[in-house]
Parts: sequence; C-alpha cells; structure tokens
Amino acid sequence: MAVRFVIVGGGPAGLQAATHAARFGAEVTLVERDIVGGSANLWDCIPSKAMIATGGVMSVTRRAHGMGLMSMDAAVDLEALRQRMADVENHLATSFTDLLRSQGVRVIEGTARLKGPHEVVAETAGGVEELAADAVLLSTGSRPRVPEWAQPDGQRVLTTRQAYPPPELPEHLVVVGSGVTGVEFVHMFRSFGAKVILIVSRQQVLPQKDPEVAAALEEDFLRSGVALLKGAKAVGVDRVDGGVVVHCDDGRTARGSHVLLAVGALPNSEALGLDEAGVEADAHGYVTVNHHCQSNVRHIYAAGDLSGKLPLASVAWTQGRKVAEHVMGFHTRQHRHLDYDKAASAVFTEPEIADVGLPEAEAFALGRKIRVTKVPFAANARALIEGDSRGFVKILSDPATGVVLGGSIVGRRAAELISVLALAVTADLKVSDISESLMVHPALAEALAEAAE
Ligand SMILES: Cc1cc2nc3c(=O)[nH]c(=O)nc-3n(C[C@H](O)[C@H](O)[C@H](O)COP(=O)(O)OP(=O)(O)OC[C@H]3O[C@@H](n4cnc5c(N)ncnc54)[C@H](O)[C@@H]3O)c2cc1C
Repeated sequence: MAVRFVIVGGGPAGLQAATHAARFGAEVTLVERDIVGGSANLWDCIPSKAMIATGGVMSVTRRAHGMGLMSMDAAVDLEALRQRMADVENHLATSFTDLLRSQGVRVIEGTARLKGPHEVVAETAGGVEELAADAVLLSTGSRPRVPEWAQPDGQRVLTTRQAYPPPELPEHLVVVGSGVTGVEFVHMFRSFGAKVILIVSRQQVLPQKDPEVAAALEEDFLRSGVALLKGAKAVGVDRVDGGVVVHCDDGRTARGSHVLLAVGALPNSEALGLDEAGVEADAHGYVTVNHHCQSNVRHIYAAGDLSGKLPLASVAWTQGRKVAEHVMGFHTRQHRHLDYDKAASAVFTEPEIADVGLPEAEAFALGRKIRVTKVPFAANARALIEGDSRGFVKILSDPATGVVLGGSIVGRRAAELISVLALAVTADLKVSDISESLMVHPALAEALAEAAE
C-alpha cells in the first residue's frame, strides 16, 4: 500500500514535500487554508520583491541623467501596482496548483490540525474530514509578530502584510525594526519617494550581518536621506492628526504619516493539535526537530519557518524535499543533511546584500585563521557601465588549503552572484577554482574571480 502522507500548509516546504513524495509514489494530501504557495507567495518573498522591483525602476529613472538621458520622472500608479502584485501572485498560485494536480496530489482547501499521532482533521467549507496518515508534515509557517504596544489598523499603523501596497503611499514612514524585513521596507518606500525614519534598537542595522556590510547599507541609507534613530527601542505609538508618533524607551520620538512594524515573527503552531499527538515544541512554539526534520514523534515532521531553523523560503523548500526523501526511505542512499551554516541569504536593498558561510566575526571569535580578500566594484567595468559601482566582494578562505569558507557581496545583483560562493562553500571548492574560471567580460562576476586570486 502507498504511504499516506498528509501535509498541513502549502508554502515552500509543504509544496516541495508534496510534489517530491508524490513523484516517489506516496499518496499525498495537502491541506491549505489560504493559498497554495503559502505566505511566501501571498505576503512575504514575492510581494515584497515585486514592490521592490517597481521601486527599482523608479530609482533607475532618477539615475537617468547620469546615464546620458534626459531626466525622467516616474510616479506610482497605485491601482496598476495593486494589479501587478495580484497578477504575479495569481500566476504563481496557478502554476503551483497545476503542478500539484499533475503529480496527483490531493489538495484540500481548509484548516487542519492533528487529532492524534496518525490522524489529521481538516475543516473545510463543506464540513470536517478526517485523514489517516502514515506520515505527517507540519509546514504552517509563521506570521508577523505584533508588539503589545501597537494596534495595527491597516491605515496608518501597518504590519508588513498591510503594506502591499497600503491604501495610500506613505509620505513619511517610520519603520520599527532593522532586521532584513525592516531594511527591505525602508528601501522599498524610499525608492517610492517617501521620507523614512528607521528605528534601530542596537547600534547597527542588520545586527546579524558583517559590520562592514551593514555599514555599506547604512551609508547608502544616510546618503539618500533615511534618518536612523539608533540605540532606541520603540515602546508606543499614538495616532495624531494626519499621522503617527512613535515613542522610544529613551524618550525620543519619531513622527511620520505612517508606521510599519517589522519586529519578527511567531510560529503558526497554537491550533495545530500538537499536544493531542504528543509533539514537542520549544518555549516560543516552534516544533523541535532533528536533522531529518522529524519531531519527537518520528513520523510527524516539521519544516519551513515552523521548524525554527533559518526562516527562509529557500531553506523551507530544501527541507520539504529532504522530508519527502526521508518519508519514502531514500535518506539511506547518498542523503546529505541540510547544513544551515551553508545557506546563502540576501537582503534586497540597494545596494543589494548577500552572504554565505562563515561570518568573519565568528571566525575571529573562534580564533580561526582565515584569509580575507576584498575587491570593490568601483574597479569593475560592468558596474561602471551600468552606472552603479557601489559595494564590494569579500571572500573568506582557509589560508592553508585555499578552501572557500564564506563570503559577502554588496552591490548590484549580489543575490545572483552569491550563488558562485554558495556552490564553492557547499562543494568545498578552493579560491583557485573560482579565480581560474574563465568569466565573461565585462561582468560583475569578474569581481569574484579577482577577490579569489
Ligand atoms: C516580508 C518578508 C519577506 C521575505 N522575503 C524572503 C525572501 O526574499 N527570500 C526568502 O528566502 N525568504 C523570505 N522570507 C521568509 C519566507 O517567506 C519564509 O521563510 C517562508 O515563507 C516559509 O515557508 P513555509 O513553507 O514555512 O510556509 P509559509 O510560506 O509561511 O506558508 C505556510 C502556509 O501554511 C498555511 N497554514 C497555516 N496554518 C494552517 C492550518 N492549520 N491548516 C492549513 N493551512 C495552514 C498558511 O495559510 C500558509 O499558506 C520573507 C519573509 C517576510 C516576512
């Protein structure tokens, strides 16, 4: 009999697990309460990057003069922007649904929870359905955390999910939170022409990143007029005539037309029936998993944001595939565990930021000997041709063996270029493997080859 595999949540992790397991011969049922593609498609990766892409076109028009063109002036058409966002989202949702159907996955529109270790209950518009399962994947993702001092109203006080785009474009936006999400929203709205104040609770934006990388972004923010309120924790917000005032713990205030909250996420685990099935979660509600994404109840898996690992769609995607392999017993053959330390990630700002592997600060803290080489894009022909030579490539390698340990890229198309370093880090390639590759000229990738010399 085919393995009965029930998946709760159709984001990147659930989708990937469903299509792979079905291809391997499982009888797969996927329950999704909202939209196939998940929050990644509806609220997070796709809409944020679609808005950033539109803002990017506006930034290009502002640079037109420097490219030998007459000045251009673009203005946002909010209705057209909304339509564009809906088109991208619908296109992806339809492709994902078609893919699931073509693999024979049964998709149930509804909300599901565990009723016991081998039973999932799906509540749908048509009633309640009980699903027997040999294996279950919980991939219900996460949602934005709303601080206790704020009441989002979708008008002036916004969560990230209320900003695609908001009812009116903010003239003066206060962004609370300077992690990846916060800085991407700063960049998005400044490129639409808003004045922006960013409240930074520590002394550095992107506190988890290499200080040199964060400094490059801060410099650019400041150059474009973004105000940084550093070392300040937001503790309250008041609606005032025509806007908002955000209060900080040190008495400082930030006044704007709107405030956007980007202060982390919470797992969607509270109504999942974890206790009924005996599944353990940590104090924050993330399901505790081993390196196969198995919970303490071994045939119940958790992947994606719910697993409390790296909250990235790319990671969720790969975890989903690994779970499908494990459920089908393929992990015994050449199965490699996911190494979260080797996951590439990007920040879609201008300049773009991407990194992978060992952070320089960590190598330093560990007392590990590393070789660091850095090449600025200012000397790169393609960057100059494209009129944007901000940023640099930095590669960390082992001085004894030349093996690439990690790297950071700040600059145009960093999110694409990092793939070279991601491959090198995963495959234990040496810097000489990169420097001896015959790269295209003129290309931004030449900076990688130079940094690898
Ligand atoms: C603003 C923002 C931008 C981001 N940009 C990027 C990016 O550029 N690149 C990147 O790699 N990552 C990005 N991320 C992170 C990324 O969105 C998440 O890591 C990813 O979506 C996690 O995927 P997932 O499979 O866990 O599920 P999700 O995408 O969170 O989807 C979970 C699904 O489960 C469904 N669900 C929940 N509970 C139930 C239930 N009980 N029954 C049925 N269905 C249920 C939900 O409706 C949802 O569709 C971003 C995050 C944010 C907040």
